[in-house]
Amino acid sequence: MLMKTAREQIVIYGNRMITDGLTVGTAGNISVYDPETGYMAISPSGIPYADTRPEDIVIMDLHGNVVEGDKKPSSEFLLHSAFYLADIGAQAVVHAHSMYCTTLACMGEPLRSTHYAIAEAGIDILPLVPYHTFGTPELAQATAKALKSGGRGVILANHGMCASGASLKNAYGLALTMEWCAQVQWRCMCTGKMNVLSKEEMDVALEHYKTYGQAKSEGSPVSGYNG
Ligand SMILES: [Zn+2]
Repeated sequence: MLMKTAREQIVIYGNRMITDGLTVGTAGNISVYDPETGYMAISPSGIPYADTRPEDIVIMDLHGNVVEGDKKPSSEFLLHSAFYLADIGAQAVVHAHSMYCTTLACMGEPLRSTHYAIAEAGIDILPLVPYHTFGTPELAQATAKALKSGGRGVILANHGMCASGASLKNAYGLALTMEWCAQVQWRCMCTGKMNVLSKEEMDVALEHYKTYGQAKSEGSPVSGYNG
C-alpha cells in the first residue's frame, strides 16, 4: 500500500475537522504530498469522515491520474495539486467550508491582518480567490494565481478556505488559525470598527514568526503558539 502513514493521517485529521468544527458532513478534503514520488494521497469523494478507512484514500499524481485506490478521489484534486505545483513548499493541504472563513468568502472579503496571528500563513493578507465552480480547472488556476503572492492559504469566494503546510500537522494548525482570525475579523466588521495592522507592523510580526520555530510546527493560537 502506497503512502500508508499519509493515509492514516488523513483519516485522523478528517475526523478532527468534524470535532474541531472546521466542517460538517462530507464537505472539505485533505491531502498529503510526497515530493520524492510526486504522488499525493487525497481523501475520497462523498464518504463521511467517520466512515473513511486508510484504504479508501486515493493516491494520485498531480495531473489527475489515479495511481492506487478504487474509490473516486475528492472532486477538488486539482485545487490540491495547485498548492503542490506552486513554489511554497506545501506537503499537505486542508480544504474546509469552515463557518467564519466561509462567511468572509461569501462577503467577498480576504482574510486581513486584524490580528497578528495571521502571520503564521507567511503573509499579511490571505487573498480572496475569485469564484469559480467547485472542482473545476478554473478554480485551480485562479488559486494558483493567488498563491503567487507567497502565502500558505487562501479564501475561496462563495466557497470556503484552504491552508497548506510542510506537514499535515502544520497545514491543519494554519487552518485553525485562519478560522480563528476570520472569526475575529467578522466580529470586528459586525461592530463597524476594525483596526487592521499596518504593513510595517505585519512585516515585523512575519519576521518574528520566522524566528520562533514553534509557531510553524505547533500551528495555532488555539493549540500552540501564543506569544
Ligand atoms: Zn469545497
